[in-house]
Amino acid sequence: MSIPPIIPHPSPNHGPRRVDGPPDMLVIHYTGMRDGPSALARMCDPESQVSAHYMIEEDGRIFQLVPDDRRAWHAGTSFWAGEMDINSRSIGIELVNPGHEWGYQPFPEAQMRALAALSAHLLSLYPIPSHRVLGHSDIAPLRKQDPGELFDWLGLAMAGVGLWPDPRPADGMAWEMDEIARLLEKFGYQVAPDGISWDAHIAHGKTWDESAEAALFAFQRHWVPASMGRGADRDSVAALRALVRDSG
Ligand SMILES: [Zn+2]
Repeated sequence: MSIPPIIPHPSPNHGPRRVDGPPDMLVIHYTGMRDGPSALARMCDPESQVSAHYMIEEDGRIFQLVPDDRRAWHAGTSFWAGEMDINSRSIGIELVNPGHEWGYQPFPEAQMRALAALSAHLLSLYPIPSHRVLGHSDIAPLRKQDPGELFDWLGLAMAGVGLWPDPRPADGMAWEMDEIARLLEKFGYQVAPDGISWDAHIAHGKTWDESAEAALFAFQRHWVPASMGRGADRDSVAALRALVRDSG
């Protein structure tokens, strides 16, 4: 896949990365605004304090707002695999889409093609494992829905970007909610409040609650959208077990 042309559109909203080493996560968003120009303007307005490294228009045009080696401000309060400063670890890509607030719609083919090419290029530059290609909702399940259930994660995985579950027949068999929480946590999700571990959570007499439920919902939104909101069903459990195995 050739590197797509990239249109420079610098934003002042960035700072130094606070960890050593190259980025090792890719976080995908939708803009959630009426149109591309308003999203671009907002991400370049110093007052907004938000940005991303790239924004992709519906017609596939790619804008670069922040250099890869700088810390863009796209993740906000978030968590993945025990870490909370996701901006310092990641590259953030915004896709123009009105989102759930303004009329959520499928992502056009030209936009997805540009995303696949840009992502493949970034994966060739940085050591980003496929299980760390994530959506904003994965790293902030209680706050965020983007890029949402209409995003074609399977198509992206088929283009070599990101992980897609390959369950075995036994993966959908009997489970306990404690195991589900542990698997979600092992994969990277925050399953207890304030970033504490599942072990510490249950040691305090707590049980499956809002954080774990949100993590399961986010997991389904990404990998098993047909099961979204159904709780732990057979397909979700099978996908989760398969993903944890394949990311190990
Ligand atoms: Zn987002």
